Amino acid sequence: MPIRVLDPEVVSRIAAGEVVERPASVVKELVENSLDAGSSQISVEVRGGGVSLIRVTDNGVGIPAAELELVFQRYATSKIASLDDLESIFSLGFRGEALSSIAAVAQVDIVTCAVGESAGSYLSLKEGVAVNQGSQGRSQGTTVTVRNLFRSVPARLKFLKSPTTENSHIANVVSQYALAFPEVKFTLSIDGRAVLRTPGSGQLIDSVIGVYGLEIARNILEVNRGDNGWEGEIATASLLVTGMVGSPAISRSNRGYLSFFVNRRWISSRLLAWAVEEAYHGLLMQGKHPVAIINISLPPKEVDVNIHPTKTEVKFQNERLVFSAVQKAVRRALIELAPAPKIEEVATTYGAPPAPSQTLWTSAGAGHRPTSPLPAAQQIPVFSLPALRLLGQLSGSYIIAEGPDGLYLIDQHAAHERILFEKIKLQISHQEIEVQGLLEPVTLEVNPRQDEVIKAHYENLTEFGFSIESFGDRTYLVRAVPALLHKKDWAGVLRELWDSPSVGNKGDWMEKIAISIACHSAVRAGQVLTDDEMRELIRQLEQVAIPNTCPHGRPTMIHLSSGHLEREFGRS
Ligand code: ADP
Ligand code: MG
Repeated sequence: MPIRVLDPEVVSRIAAGEVVERPASVVKELVENSLDAGSSQISVEVRGGGVSLIRVTDNGVGIPAAELELVFQRYATSKIASLDDLESIFSLGFRGEALSSIAAVAQVDIVTCAVGESAGSYLSLKEGVAVNQGSQGRSQGTTVTVRNLFRSVPARLKFLKSPTTENSHIANVVSQYALAFPEVKFTLSIDGRAVLRTPGSGQLIDSVIGVYGLEIARNILEVNRGDNGWEGEIATASLLVTGMVGSPAISRSNRGYLSFFVNRRWISSRLLAWAVEEAYHGLLMQGKHPVAIINISLPPKEVDVNIHPTKTEVKFQNERLVFSAVQKAVRRALIELAPAPKIEEVATTYGAPPAPSQTLWTSAGAGHRPTSPLPAAQQIPVFSLPALRLLGQLSGSYIIAEGPDGLYLIDQHAAHERILFEKIKLQISHQEIEVQGLLEPVTLEVNPRQDEVIKAHYENLTEFGFSIESFGDRTYLVRAVPALLHKKDWAGVLRELWDSPSVGNKGDWMEKIAISIACHSAVRAGQVLTDDEMRELIRQLEQVAIPNTCPHGRPTMIHLSSGHLEREFGRS
């Protein structure tokens, strides 16, 4: 084929593909435009996974009637005029590509009324070409309606996931901006269901309640560090890290609860995720991730936002500085506001027997479960457990037992978790799950994201013995639960699962469900057990395949060999 310059139509389709990858990208661009227009109220409505309809309505400054047609031209923007402006950019948009890209792959209607204009105007486009235009009454602000997305691009349409998955991406975009702009009142409706609402009070905690619900909001701490107090490390007086982070008690099984905003732009950043996780080092179990909403403010010239058409990645001029500021700010919040459990010198604990109320783990804050890994020196892998003789219980949490080769200190919760996990796996493989009907059905309310996950994994839950019915508007009726969870926190199990990402294969999901049921039905730390109960637990533990770790990978026991004891007491 000879070399030639592509037709403008082909070029615009290709370019549109970069900006508009899926329905959620359209929602993101439209919401960003509404925010740039200074709106205090933004409502988003979608149907059919965003393919049939996306409508974003705002009360921002509007678009002057005379400029309405122009906004659909590629590179038409009111936000920058020169390259220099990029250095001081505070708006979310600046490339002038979104509306033209959307119009290239969908049917678009826009109705707008600009500040100071008495009447509004409208414009309809098909395949990027204006087909209808005129004046129409409306209050100040803009409504953009996008219909039949990708109808003219069948290849793209084919790559979209199920409407449920696309809805969950859309819910996530709106949730993120609701967290970034607490002063803006957001609503989201999906197929006529109101799935999200924030009050626009200006308080981040109110957005957290709207997006994540009360349980997370009750366990969240404020991050608020300016440029001072950093041991002189930050020389520029320009970097500010604010936001909120979850206490370790509300850790999640994926990174979906990490939100980062740079000068209020929602971005994804491995660097920042790493900084936050570093700050939680030792506070979370393996495989667990924190909840965090991190806002970074810095002079626009210190961050390049123009490295990708979707503007979701940024490049910091001084990555190390940003990393360390975020890590320290989060760590500080965690330590000042929620003192972490700390491990006492294990040798001392063994050297002098602990007072009855003392545990191997102590915490300045009450109610913490130990989450740090056990000290490595004491952690000897035990693959098959010998017959053990019960000696007693320590602090209502650990079983002390003697074996042919020394002392075993068993974490009763972790050990029971392992036993139950194996039991559930066996029951599932024989399809013999025991079910317990509830006396009265219980209603559970869920957030938009959880709602999408339930829809995707409803059947897996049924296999484990949950009987759940939809009861309208983000509400479900639970009629039966796995018998193991009878009188236990089965609602906690469901919430934990619904907070998992909906991706992953069925096997991963089944394991996740089994782990969660095992964890919530196991005996707790602090629960006093009778000698018979402890003997039974030891007996069952002797029979499982991997007795030395719980299904989360945490050790279930510490083994002090006779040799070790002799060395400690200076006999060898
Ligand atoms: P960009 O946001 O990069 O400037 P867009 O294609 O998204 O490019 O929008 C083009 C222009 O249309 C914007 O610069 C803005 O002037 C105008 N515009 C788009 N949406 C709105 C809105 N909701 N309210 C007011 N003006 C808008
Ligand atoms: Mg824009």
